[in-house]
Parts: sequence; structure tokens; C-alpha cells
Amino acid sequence: MENTNSSIQEIQNFKGKYPKQLWYLFFSEMWERFSFYGMRGMLVIFMVSQLSMNDKVANLQYGATQAFVYAFTFIGGLFADKLLGYRKSLFWGGLLMIVGSIILAIDPQHFFFFGISFTIIGTGFFKPNISTIVGKLYADDDPRRDAGFSLFYAGVNLGALIGGYICIAVANGSLWSSLVPAALRWNVAFGFAAVVMLVSLITFTQTQKSLGAIGLSPLAAMQASKRKRLELATYIGSLLIIPIIMTMVSNTDYTDIFMFIIGPASLLYLFYEMRSFTAAENKKLIAALVFIVFSIFFWAFFEQSGGSLSLFAAHNLNNTVLGVSLDPNGVNNAANSFFVIVFAALVGMVWLWLHKRKLEPNTVVKFGLGFLFLAGGFAIFYDTKFFADASGKTSLNLFTFGWFVITFGELCLSPIGMSAMTKLSPAKTQAVIMGMWFLASAYGQYFAGLLGANIADASEHASNLEKLNVYANGYKQLAIYALIAGVVLIAIAPLVKKLMQDVK
Ligand code: GLN
Repeated sequence: MENTNSSIQEIQNFKGKYPKQLWYLFFSEMWERFSFYGMRGMLVIFMVSQLSMNDKVANLQYGATQAFVYAFTFIGGLFADKLLGYRKSLFWGGLLMIVGSIILAIDPQHFFFFGISFTIIGTGFFKPNISTIVGKLYADDDPRRDAGFSLFYAGVNLGALIGGYICIAVANGSLWSSLVPAALRWNVAFGFAAVVMLVSLITFTQTQKSLGAIGLSPLAAMQASKRKRLELATYIGSLLIIPIIMTMVSNTDYTDIFMFIIGPASLLYLFYEMRSFTAAENKKLIAALVFIVFSIFFWAFFEQSGGSLSLFAAHNLNNTVLGVSLDPNGVNNAANSFFVIVFAALVGMVWLWLHKRKLEPNTVVKFGLGFLFLAGGFAIFYDTKFFADASGKTSLNLFTFGWFVITFGELCLSPIGMSAMTKLSPAKTQAVIMGMWFLASAYGQYFAGLLGANIADASEHASNLEKLNVYANGYKQLAIYALIAGVVLIAIAPLVKKLMQDVK
């Protein structure tokens, strides 16, 4: 036992700015996000062009798949905390993601929902747990934690940038079209996701020894054969629910029911766990819940990206950014990640600069600022309608600028929120809280689909120019709501700060 403790301490006592394990996790997550965002960027366009869905249905379907992906992070977090440990969960999740992408690469037209269901469960086991492991590299009071999450977030976005651009551009035929036969474009694009996920998994397995005791089984004290049986049951159980997921994802009515249940169920579970914590711990958990609830709204707007903004990009944007010719869908998928990578460090430095002058806003105010930037970005998306030509095509430059502004909002909210989850939660329930953080994204995605479907519905059978107007007006509404959310958050900041106690 003593050995195990000292090894975690050794890891946490690292010298310098970042622990070396963070770099391994950075690359593993980078490739996983390549695969994830590569696929995400293809979903709506694939469903409309290959599965002949109309825009509204595709938006709802998109929201449903993404909602399930993030909802399963809650379940994946739960199983990791209680049964598998973070490392085995991550391995199993990665394996399922690879299988899912291979299925899609072989025949996406016929096995679309089957393949997607594998990736949904796989991401659930992978995504929250790798983030929790990052948190474990730091001692409770280590001030380097936020910087670690920011670096990790840059890895997320490096993967998202490359995958988000390449996959859809290959599928659309605007990249490497001479190398990839037209009939196989979608297969190759989904195939990329499989290959890079394999790279992610190999990176993890080859470096996981360096994690010492972090992420090992929570059932170490249990008899080995009994533990193995429980683990096996988890693996088999996660395979058995694939047909159920398939049915639920392909019928969005079931998604509605699922979303209706999973959120309240997760809250009940958390309240149940809270009985065994101290009042001070519980206050922190309530603060975590405030962040989680607001982040739902943030992601609902932000995630128009893969839904309605994908269609907006396909119909209404020209294809040049600063004189360079680029695929507008690729830009919609990748611009945000590009800006995160370029500006994450700068934002970190601004916080540090403000901190030295005792002016650094606390996490709640940062969240509020996140919404104000989001509002600014959507106001810019709205403004694109004033720059359209007669065919309804408008400026990709201005659109890209909108993403530039939103990115600062994301940087005020997402890495900081993730880091706050690890600080506000007692050790025993960290993966569940991280799962709830991503569950908020599930609701965000779900609402993103509904919002996007409304926008798409209003523009069915419309000319390109009319479509532009409907979409732009929809984005104006979102800008106003984001503004309101930002103001509310800043107003309640003192209250939430009290709940957070020593956590900044
Ligand atoms: N872009 C981040 C990621 O992929 C955050 C996603 C989210 O929480 N919705 O990790």
C-alpha cells in the first residue's frame, strides 16, 4: 500500500511545469479527438447526401448521436469509478471506437447506426476517464493544474483540427480526390478515424506504465476471480446494449425519452452519493452543478457547429479565407480548433498577468465571460447575411471571424470547467462528476439538434438566399440568449464563489 501511495506522490511531485505523463495523455487524446471530430464533421453531410434524410431529420439525428456519445461518458465514468478503473475503461473504450470506425469504413451506407453505436459506447468509456487521469497527475492544491488542462485541451483541439478538416474534405472530394476513387470517399474518410484511433490506443498502452498506481482497479482489495467476473460482465454488458443504442439513436423519439431520464437519474445518483460527504464537500458539489447546468446552454449553442452550421456552411458560404481557397465545411469544423491551439497559451498568460495584479476573475466570472464571447460570435454569424450575393453565398472570412470570437468564449469555459470539476469533487466520485460535466454536453448536443432542426425546418424548400436569412435570424436569437446567460452568471458569481470555498 505504501508503495502505491509513494508512487502517486512521486508522480505528483514532478518538477517543471508539466508532468511527463501529461504529454502521453495529450497524444492519446489528440488521436482520439481526430477520430471523434473527423466523424462528427461527416455525420450531417453523410446523412443528407448518402442516407437521403432531409435537413431537419439530419439535424435531429445528429443531435441524438452526439447526445448519446456524451451521455455515455456519464455511464463510462460511473463504471470506471466503481468497477474497471480509469485505465481499463480507456482501453476498452478505445477498442470499441476502433471497431465502430472499421464498421463504418466497410459499409457506411448500410451499417451507419451499427457503427455509430460502437463509437458512442467507446467514447463513453474513453473520454471522461482520460480527463480524470489528467486531474490525478496533480496534488489537490497544485496551482499548475489549470495549465495542465489547458495543454491537454490544446491536444484535444490539435486532433479536432486535423481530423475535422481532413475527413470531411476527403469525403467531399475536395482533398486528395486524385488518390481516393469517388465511390470510396466516405469509406476512406471513416477509415481514417479507425487508423488514428488505433494510434491513440497504442500510444496509451505503450505509455500507461508511467501512470504508476493511477487509474488501476478500484476493486484491488476484492478477490481476483470475483473482480475478473465483474469486469467481464461490464465488457459483455456494454456489447449487449449495442442493439438498444442502435434502436434509440435511429429513432429520435427514443432519444427524447432517454434524455428525459438520464439527467434526473444522474442527479439522483449524485444526491445519493452526497449523503456520505461532509457539508463542505457538498457545497462544492452544488457549485459544480451550477457550472454543469450553465455549460448545457453553452454547448447547445456552440454545437450548432456540427449541426445547423454544417448546413449553413454547405449552402451559404463562399470558399475563401484571406484569399486562400478552403472547403467551407472543413473551415466550420476546424477553425475553432485552430484558434484554440493558437490562443490557448495567450489566454493562460492573460489570466496569469491578471492574477499577479490581483485582478484575475474567478471561475464563475470566467464562465460568464465565456457566454459574452459566445454572444459576440453568434452576432457575427447573424451579420454574415448583410454580405451575401444574389445566390445567397456570404463571406467565409466573416464566418471564420465569428469562430475566432467564440473560441475565446470556449477558452473561458471549457478547460477551466474541466479543471474545476476535478477540484470541486471528492476523490471517490471524480469520474462521475467528470461524466456529469460531459453529460451537460450531451444535453447541449441534444438541444443543439432541436435548435438546428427548427432553423432547418423553417427554411425547407427555400431558396439559398431565403435559407441564409432564416439561419442568420436563428443565430441572432442565440446571440441574445447567450448574452442573457452571461449577465446572469456574472450577477450570481459572489454566491457561487461562497459555495466553492477555498477553490478559486
Ligand atoms: N472540445 C472539447 C472536447 O472535445 C469539449 C467538448 C465538450 O465538452 N462538449 O473535449
